[in-house]
Amino acid sequence: MQDFETTAIHIIPSYALHLSTVFTETGVDPRRDTKLKIAFLGAEPHSENMRRKIEAFYGFKGFNSYGLSEMNGPGMAFECPEQNGMHIWEDNYIIEIIDPVTLQRVPEGEEGELIATTILREGMPILRYRTKDLTRIIPGPCPCGRTHRRIERITGRTDDMMILKGVNIFPIQIEKRLMEIPGVGINFLIVLDRENYNDQMTVKVEVQREFFGGDLHQLEVLRRRIVDELRSDILITPKVDLVEPDSLPKSEGKAVRVVDNRKD
Ligand SMILES: [Zn+2]
Repeated sequence: MQDFETTAIHIIPSYALHLSTVFTETGVDPRRDTKLKIAFLGAEPHSENMRRKIEAFYGFKGFNSYGLSEMNGPGMAFECPEQNGMHIWEDNYIIEIIDPVTLQRVPEGEEGELIATTILREGMPILRYRTKDLTRIIPGPCPCGRTHRRIERITGRTDDMMILKGVNIFPIQIEKRLMEIPGVGINFLIVLDRENYNDQMTVKVEVQREFFGGDLHQLEVLRRRIVDELRSDILITPKVDLVEPDSLPKSEGKAVRVVDNRKD
């Protein structure tokens, strides 16, 4: 980035956070030492707070993007300067939102699975492709003036839903809560186990360095707060382990958020 004086990057959000630790370790401050101005963030569900964390570290504006390899790679929908939903390139794709169980279209504004059809492709047209990605159409016009409809950030995939004690939970729900809590670092991992036919969720949470060196009482207060906040959202009491910054495994591709050790 420094050699090429890069101003814009297109990056997976978890990798942007991983890179931030590399920047810190090598003493490079992206705000001071690079020319970065803009980033496109995409390819995995991430919360608004994670976007804000990335923006704050790099000092750029981060815009969400959406796409899938089968269609066009990243290049189906992008955010405008409003940073409030991604405009679909409707001159190139027909988008529908369906109920993944009944396969019927849902009313505009309701969440469901995104279905896409290519309009301009000749070699390999794709008709009504099931993406497994969950989102909704944001009703109404965008203040930016573009007329292509917007989709909400992806909230999960139909196949990354966890079912725990009969409750449906998406990893993004956990991330959203965690990122709102001061002291929480940039990485977390959900581990599912089954003991005596009982499902157990453990959330391993990296803590910010200044917190980790602090006193044990403060850490316990943070741990309890995380348990309480998660319970109020997912209706299950998880076990929460606080771990050192940079101690959880990092992936260079899409983040692995869930390890499921349950055996049927
Ligand atoms: Zn717009």
